[in-house]
This record gives sequence, structure tokens and C-alpha cells, in this order.
Amino acid sequence: MTIQINAASFTGISGYPINVEVDISAGLPAFNIVGLADTSVKESKERVRSAIINSGYTFPIKRITVNLAPADLKKEGSLFDLPIAIGILSATNQICSDFIDEYIIVGELSLSGNLKRIKGALPITTYGVKNNLSKIIVPTDNALECSIVKNSKIFGFDNLSQVIDYFEYRDSLPFKYSQNFENESIDLDFDDIVGQESSKRAIEVSASGGHNIVLYGAPGSGKTMLAKRIPTILPPLNYEEALEVTEIYSVSGNVQNQNLIFKRPFRNPHHTSSKIALVGGGSNLIPGEISLAHNGILFLDELLEFKKDVLEVLRQPLEDRVIKFSKSTGNVIYPANFMFVSALNPCPCGNYGSNKECTCTEYQRKRYISKLSGALLDRIDIFSPVKSLNYDEIEKSRKTDSSKEIRKRVTLARQIQKDRFSHENIHYNSEMQKKHIDKYCKLSTDTSNILKTLFKNFEVSTRAYTRILKVARTIADMNERKDIAPIDLIEAIQYRKFIDGKIV
Ligand SMILES: [Zn+2]
Repeated sequence: MTIQINAASFTGISGYPINVEVDISAGLPAFNIVGLADTSVKESKERVRSAIINSGYTFPIKRITVNLAPADLKKEGSLFDLPIAIGILSATNQICSDFIDEYIIVGELSLSGNLKRIKGALPITTYGVKNNLSKIIVPTDNALECSIVKNSKIFGFDNLSQVIDYFEYRDSLPFKYSQNFENESIDLDFDDIVGQESSKRAIEVSASGGHNIVLYGAPGSGKTMLAKRIPTILPPLNYEEALEVTEIYSVSGNVQNQNLIFKRPFRNPHHTSSKIALVGGGSNLIPGEISLAHNGILFLDELLEFKKDVLEVLRQPLEDRVIKFSKSTGNVIYPANFMFVSALNPCPCGNYGSNKECTCTEYQRKRYISKLSGALLDRIDIFSPVKSLNYDEIEKSRKTDSSKEIRKRVTLARQIQKDRFSHENIHYNSEMQKKHIDKYCKLSTDTSNILKTLFKNFEVSTRAYTRILKVARTIADMNERKDIAPIDLIEAIQYRKFIDGKIV
């Protein structure tokens, strides 16, 4: 007799269905699993056999064939233990199978029959809910995590016997979990930082349009303090964004407290990080820092201390906002849509342009900055110098805007962009392509004259030109202006000035 059980697996953060077929026939006793199962699935045989026997049921001494369909997808992991066991019990009439096809069943079994936490339960749940299979049986340890998906009906169990009893009596209710949406604690605030008004303004512009930003200045000037506060001025994640972030953390095994993550990620990898740590991949194809920063901030402090080849791998995801890995059985894609924030010293000693003496030669300085390759420069919209304050400046600085006040303005500017781009496949000004720039960044004669003068007096690259227009569009939005005004453009040009006032 052949039995079918709905199971599921995941790749990247996407779940997909796996049909577990169990066939039991007379013949020499054998237990085979077919359908491109890897060794971790094949080991399942021993766990399933012991778990069934140790739970007090009979393991059939017959010819058992388990097929995991579709057969062309490689199956990994131990999450098929439970559906295989349920299939065998069902095919031998040891479990009531009237309603089994209404459920997705996943879980790892121990030899004693206990259910153990699996990876990827969240994308499996999301898949189920989207495909009218919202009833999902998982190990108890996964129940909290899965129940954050709206409209899911999660049934968590500790062991195989409990699952069997459930199908007999159907006496459990789905796991109820009330998510507290208000528990986002903001422990940092922009009003902690004295002075630095021009950097704060540059950061507000970046956050408003989703622009990548470089903060540069002497060590101790407060670049890191500023960067760490950027998440506090971004609007809170909505449900869909929060679910994506939580899914990434779930498949990377990084979920700490199983709540839906509503806090914007802020990832701050060290400059000794490897390529794999930064972008992900490796033998397990785990998500890297750029995916853990999805919908939030990736902050690279001491940008020029990172190895050049490590920085180069950022180019593609910065452009595509996803990262793809090729695998023998297909591609794995992780989202990687983050705001890129970085900080650097203006020279090797760090003092160039500050009130302390720089001990570097011009050659040393040029060589140091040249590590910032054209490809990376191409993806940065805003450069902001962060000055070391002297005592007088600290003394006369008044209280400044709190994160909450800034966030209100950022949210408004972002809404204007979302409305404008509602028929385009982009959301923010930073994502504009040439066709969008031509359409939404038209300049009046006065305004375009400013650009002409700039081109006459400076060597301006095409790259700088488009970046200036995108940022000017954001500044105009922040001022709720339909058209870019001369003053918006002038401010945007300032953000293209890098060390020595050179336009990059
Ligand atoms: Zn120096």
C-alpha cells in the first residue's frame, strides 16, 4: 500500500513542497530511500526505525521504499524523519490517517522518538500558508518561531507518540502566540551626539533616499557613534519586511528569541572578515553579513583596512540587492537589500584635514585612498567629513533633534518616493536608473546652469553627475518640492566632495 505525506524543504529563504511516498510490500525485508537523498537523509532510516520501536509501535519486517518527490531536487537534512515515520505507521494502519493530507509534517527524530528542532521551519511555514496548507506539524522547539507567520496553524509536539495521539483524537488546538509589536527598545539616540550637525544632515539625507554613505575623518571624531544611530531614524519594519529578516536569521540558525524581528538590522563586520563571512556561501551556503543586514544597515568601519578582494565581492550585491550562489541542484538566492554605510580615516595616520599634524607623505595618502576602487565609488552617493570638535564647539552646541524627530521627517520623505514610484519597480531615489532620472529629475534652466558651471570648473565624471541628481531629488523630497531647486542641487554637490574637496 502506498501512502503520501506532505512535507517541505527550503532553499535560501524560500520553502517548497516535498512529497514523501511510502510503499510497503511483501518481499525480503529492506528499507530504501530514493529521490536524490543525501547522506543526512539516508541516516534517517536508523533514526526512524529506532524511534518507531522505542515509541511502542511495530516496525514492519517487509520491503519498505520511501520516495522523496520531486526526484530531481536534492534533499538534505533530517527534517524528513517525522514524515517518513508517519508514512510507515500509516501504511501499516498503526495511525489514523483520515486527515493527514491536510497537514505539512516536518521534524527530526531522536532514537528514542523525541522531536528535535529543525532549521528553516519559518520558510516552510510561509510556503504552507501561501499554498493553502496552513496546518503544520513541527517539533515544539520550532512552534514559537513558526507561529509568527500570519494565518498559520502550528501544531508543536515533543515526540512521535504525541503526533500519533493527535491524529487519533485531534484534541490539540493550534499554537497561539501573541506577538508584541511594541517591544522595539531604542537604546541609542542622535541627541546623544554633540555638534556634528553637517554629518547628521548628510545621514538624514542618506536615510531619506536610501543612499549609501561614507563618513570620513580622524580617529575619535565620532564616525562610529553616528553610524550606529542610523537604524534609529529609519521607519520601523513592516510585517513583510520583518518576516523576511526573521527568515534569513532563521535559516542561518541565528534566531535568538524566536520573536518576529522588528528592529532594523545593523551589521558591523570586522575588517578581518573573510569573503564568505561577508557575502555568504561556503559549503553550507549560509547567508553572510550582507543578507543579515537585509532591510537594515551594513556598516564597514575602517573601510580601507578590508582586503581589496573582499571589497570587490560587494559590487554585485550592491547593484542587484540579492546574492546568488550556484549549486549543482540549482541556484540559492538570498536577499541583500541594505543601506551601505562605511567609515574611513582620510590618510594612514588619520590626521589629514584635522587640527592635528598629518605625518603622511602625499604618495602614502594617494596610495591609501586608491584602495577605494572606482567600482565601489560608483555605488556610494554621499561623502560626509566628520570633524573632531574642539572644546568651544562642544560648549556652544545646543540640544539637537532626537532620533524620533528625525525619523518622522525620514518617514515622510520616504512616503513621497514610494508614492511617486508606485508604478515603477523601485521604491527609493537611490534605486533610480537612467530612465527614472530622465523622468523625475528634470532641471529648470537656472538649476541646470549650476551643473554647467560645475562641469566647467571641475573634472566631473558621469558617475558623479547621476549621483548628484539622485541625491538632489531626495533633498527636494525632504523639502516637499515637486521640482529640484538650485539650493537642493548645491547641497547635493557638496556631498560629492571628498578628501581635498575633489569631486568624485
Ligand atoms: Zn596622515
